[in-house]
This record gives sequence, structure tokens and C-alpha cells, in this order.
Amino acid sequence: MRYTTFGKTGYKVSSLGFGAMNLPSVPLEQARETLNYALDQGINYIDTAAGYRNSEEIIGECISHRRADYFLATKTAKRDYKSAMEEMQRSMERMKTDVIDLLQIHYVNRPQEFKDAMAEDGAYQAALELKRKGHIRFIGITGHRPDLLVKWIQKEQFDQVLFHLSLAQPFALDELIPELTRLDMGKTAMKPLSGGFIQPVDKALRYPFSQNVHVTISGMVSVDEVKENIAAMRTAVGDEERAELEQLASELGEHNCRRCNYCQCPVGIAIPDIMISSQVRKTFGLLPKGDGFYQKNKEKILSCADHEPCKEKPLCEPLCPYDLPMREVVMAASDYYKVGDRL
Ligand code: SF4
Ligand code: SF4
Repeated sequence: MRYTTFGKTGYKVSSLGFGAMNLPSVPLEQARETLNYALDQGINYIDTAAGYRNSEEIIGECISHRRADYFLATKTAKRDYKSAMEEMQRSMERMKTDVIDLLQIHYVNRPQEFKDAMAEDGAYQAALELKRKGHIRFIGITGHRPDLLVKWIQKEQFDQVLFHLSLAQPFALDELIPELTRLDMGKTAMKPLSGGFIQPVDKALRYPFSQNVHVTISGMVSVDEVKENIAAMRTAVGDEERAELEQLASELGEHNCRRCNYCQCPVGIAIPDIMISSQVRKTFGLLPKGDGFYQKNKEKILSCADHEPCKEKPLCEPLCPYDLPMREVVMAASDYYKVGDRL
């Protein structure tokens, strides 16, 4: 495990962070064993959010007795002062702690959301108030638009940013990571497997590990997953391997989708999942989770070609800030069902 100083926080964070989002899906005893094993192995960064079902409660129940062993990061997606204050206080109660090391304003993807959160009666002021009182140590922001995040950090109101960085989404490297480095801010990468689509797992984890970030959050729910994730970061990435990973990322990232979720499909097609997985599927095939996604969404995906209102002009495409050809990619994704016994 590598440890680096997390920007101006001064905290030495492990290169692998524990993503606690999926813990509510497993039995409590399994979550307890997994979290404690991860801490025993030297993982010292725990990432959760008020919105991840009862993930915060599980953390409080399973590891609050060893609070000094981890840097605790959570998030609020509330935008106004009052609701954010209530939610942050609830987070502390649920996690059985008086101090949140890092409170992130969660999932800020649009200029209006940023404006609301930063207003005088916004969530940021609530976080500042708790910081003044010693209940929050640092404030960060999370989002899916690296180009907007670069602008939003210029006033140096934040200590850290949580952003996508994976073989299928290398876009934070263009401007965001260099700017965070210049400002000496905490750099937290998330979704190395891009929601379970990218494989192989070791390559997927070694890519953000090979880049200039402090910690990569990986969602883990079992001791075996912790072992697999730690093994992927056991040895340093050399120049040759880094160049290979970067080449792969430029190929897998050709879809250009940032997962901003601006696009809305009237038949409920999960467009960003298809944009991102299509490229991976062509190169490596899919992990069981990715296959499950395609099986579950078969009818919707196949319906795109016949959706009458989109035939002349796709309804989703004008919503994309990057002008991506979503209809074409969704229709091409239906090839998945033409392979062998999937017909
Ligand atoms: S073109 Fe397809 S993916 Fe886009 S909105 Fe229409 S049905 Fe949905
Ligand atoms: S397709 Fe465009 S609008 Fe939709 S998530 Fe990707 S980047 Fe955003």
C-alpha cells in the first residue's frame, strides 16, 4: 500500500480507499468483517454518503470503536443550509462520531446546483459552520463534470475533489488533476471499475494507481474483494506499464461520456452505462455485473430503434453538453443480443 499526503490536510492516506456504498447489500456481520479486515490491512480512508442507504449506520456500528484508524469522508446532497445542517448532524449520529474528517458537497453537476450550494443560505455555509465548531475538518466537492469542477475550485473554498478516474473515464487527467495538484488539494478518484463494467479488475485498479491521485475509492463488500484490491496495488507501476494503461484508457475512453446524466430517455434507457460499457465490451467483454445489466435492460435497449419520436431527431442528443451520438451507440449496443445463445 502506498501512503501520500492528502493535499493540505496533511493526513497520510492509503492509495486504496474503502467505498462503503454497497455495504447495505450484505449481512451486517459480513460488513463488519470486511471493514475491520480492510483497516487491519492498512486501508485508512473510508468513503460513504448520507444518501447511501444505511451505509453510515453500518460504519458507526462496525468500526466506530477504532475511530483513530481511519480518515472518514461522507457527503451531503442537500443544497440548502437547513437540510444540509440536519443531514450532517444525522451523519455524525449514525457514524457515532463527533468529527467528520471530510464533508463533501455531493454530486454537483450543473452550474445552478453549485450556485445553490454556495449561496448564503446554502449547504456550503452549513458545512463551514460545523467546521468552525470543530465537527468537520475539511470540505470537498464531488461531481461528474471535470470541466466545471476546474472552474469551481478556483476560489479555493474546497480542500478536496472526488472525481471519476477509470480506464473508461480518463477525462479528469486533462485539466482537473493538474489544477488540483497546483492548488495542493486532496485528489480522490472514484469508480475504478465504472460501476462493474471494466475488467480485468487488477488493470482497472492499477490505472488510477498509476496516476497523480492520492486515493482511489473502490466499493468492497467482502474480505476476498479487499484482498483482490490490495493485491492490485501491491507493486508500483513502472513507466512501461503506465504507458500501456494510458494507451488502453485512450481507447476505452473514446465514447467521451462523462456520466453527467444530463440525458434523459423517455423509455428509461440508461444511456451513460451503455456509452461506457460499449467500448469495454468490444475490447474485453463484460464482468457478470455488466452482463446482468444487459440482460435486465434488453427490452429497453432494443426499443430505441423503434421509438417513433426519436426517429427524426433523437430526444436525448440535444441534452448532451458534449454532442455525443447516443442513439447510434445505443442501437449498436443491441448487437449484444445477437451473440450465440443470447438471441
Ligand atoms: S434515441 Fe434512444 S436512447 Fe435516445 S431518447 Fe430516444 S429512445 Fe432514448
Ligand atoms: S451521454 Fe452526454 S449527457 Fe449523457 S451522461 Fe454522457 S456526457 Fe452526459
